[in-house]
Amino acid sequence: MNIILFGPPGAGKGTQSDNLVRDLNLYKISTGDLLREEVKKKSVLGVKIKSILDQGLLVSDDIINDLIENILSNKNYFNRSIFDGYPRNFNQVKHLDILIKKYNQKIYCVLNLKVNQDVIIKRIIGRQVCPKCGLTFNEFFNPSTKENHHCDVKFLQKRSDDNEKTAKNRLETYTKETLPVLDYYKNQKILYEIDGTGHIPEIYKEIREIIHSLET
Ligand code: ADP
Repeated sequence: MNIILFGPPGAGKGTQSDNLVRDLNLYKISTGDLLREEVKKKSVLGVKIKSILDQGLLVSDDIINDLIENILSNKNYFNRSIFDGYPRNFNQVKHLDILIKKYNQKIYCVLNLKVNQDVIIKRIIGRQVCPKCGLTFNEFFNPSTKENHHCDVKFLQKRSDDNEKTAKNRLETYTKETLPVLDYYKNQKILYEIDGTGHIPEIYKEIREIIHSLET
């Protein structure tokens, strides 16, 4: 079951896709994570990507399309991908359609996590990521505790684009380039709207109910 998790930056796409990966044996494709991996390598491409990320702009479609084809062409992940933060504009939507056909797969649903702007900014600024285990926390809404996190808190890090200025730019990019894509999926009748403002387990429950209804 290929699933697209849609929503503004800070909507909780990463957190919810981690839940789905854990429970449904799916493979997460976070274009943001893949780009940050390239940045860590400090390659020529990585340096270029970092400057785009820090401005809150979209990385070029060519780079993204190659990343996605590498994964969709891998038989180990056949029809069990969760796309987190992809596609983000019409070019990417069209290219994804081409790849899905080429590799004989299907998009089962697009889950749109809706959250208003004030909450989003606080979520982004409070976000903390553990580089050891890959889990994401939030110092205001979902702090790391002994129960939910087994690594030392000293490892927790902030992303360089999680500051107020870049967050506002990311939101603007989302509204201008990404949000219009939703109509395309709505017309295909595979779009499901989810209130992303509640508690993480409640939102996840709603997501599971939608997926369950598609399986039966
Ligand atoms: P968020 O969704 O919270 O902004 P991500 O980790 O998904 O966080 O993305 C971080 C940054 O990576 C984006 O601001 C953008 O610069 C880049 N990026 C991620 N996915 C894409 C994509 N599909 N197309 C272009 N750029 C992307």
